[in-house]
Amino acid sequence: MRIGFGYDSHRLVPGRALVLGGVHIPNTLGPEAHSDGDALIHALIDALLGACALGDIGQLFPPEDEQYRNISSRILLGRTLEALATAGFRPRNVDSTILLESPRLGPYVEEMRSNLSADLNIPGTAISVKAKTKEGLGETGKGRAVEAYAVALVEER
Ligand code: MG
Repeated sequence: MRIGFGYDSHRLVPGRALVLGGVHIPNTLGPEAHSDGDALIHALIDALLGACALGDIGQLFPPEDEQYRNISSRILLGRTLEALATAGFRPRNVDSTILLESPRLGPYVEEMRSNLSADLNIPGTAISVKAKTKEGLGETGKGRAVEAYAVALVEER
């Protein structure tokens, strides 16, 4: 068994779709990003890669590479799973926390878990997604950014 940790943040700007855990969430602001800017999945990718010491999301999917422009992060997550499998690892469980001032994410968490369960090929009971606000603190607390933290446990096949 090996454990990995990941973190991601994106500035929130007008005219971008807010996507977290592969779920489109109605909002006037969305992440400024080269891909779809799914901070939860980006943190999760770094946690999975970190557990296997396979580098980080920027090395696997360079932001200057045009093929990743506005790409769904679920596709990147799928490719991350392939990289893990090639290295002889598979995920066992993941835990995560999203920091977002608004909107409240509670109604979307089950769909996020369902998406991640399908992408990681592990049961939903092995996937935790938590959401909280920053109580007005800092840029995220002022609604100008989204952040996510994730840990992942992987096992060698
Ligand atoms: Mg990111």
